[in-house]
Amino acid sequence: MSSIKKQDVGQGAAGPRVPVEKIRARLQEAIDIGRLPPGQRLPEERVASAMSISRARVREALSQLAQLGLVELQANRGAFVARPSVEEARHSWEARMVAERALARLAAERASDDDRAEMRRLLTSEQAAWDEGDIPTAVGLSRDFHRTIAASAGNPVLAEILSNLLSRSALSQAVYVARGQAGCLCDDHLELMTALEAKDPDRAEAMMAAHIDNMISRMDLAPLPQDVDIEDALRFDI
Ligand SMILES: [Zn+2]
Repeated sequence: MSSIKKQDVGQGAAGPRVPVEKIRARLQEAIDIGRLPPGQRLPEERVASAMSISRARVREALSQLAQLGLVELQANRGAFVARPSVEEARHSWEARMVAERALARLAAERASDDDRAEMRRLLTSEQAAWDEGDIPTAVGLSRDFHRTIAASAGNPVLAEILSNLLSRSALSQAVYVARGQAGCLCDDHLELMTALEAKDPDRAEAMMAAHIDNMISRMDLAPLPQDVDIEDALRFDI
């Protein structure tokens, strides 16, 4: 799910035949786990060369990512990883709260034994990655934990919506969570896992809501002042 291997994206002669979907997915993965940070410029020729594919295919993938709100295309300047405003971040998290509460409830009702075993496995690996200080891997596993809950809820439409919301919320975390504060909320995940294993929809929904609230509270999403008085802003002692 998370690991699209380099060889799948294509090297040399195989490159041009790689589906644009895979190119988009690899770029999205790099954005999700913070390897491509918000505001990062994405020159077509460098992306094309790094993935051994044509610039036309890169352009198509970037255009898809722009439609998902993950890349910003600027006239004459090219493509950049999106840098969500405070308002955009609030909207993404509000949407994520709605989607994930519903998904947690459905997953508690519908997940199979195999689904729950996979969630447990991801949780154990995530904890180990945090313990080892391997942050990109830990972040990827954490995201996969949420995706697995979504996939086990038996509603592919909601799961697809969540996939986009996870990417958007990863971008806003990268911008609005102080560096020292980024880290595991593994206790939240464990409580959520316990509710899913107990097949308790009310508790799973409540635990997910608490988890999302905890993540939101780590971000500084206070609105920035608008239209400040310039004279007043410059009147201070130095
Ligand atoms: Zn989580």
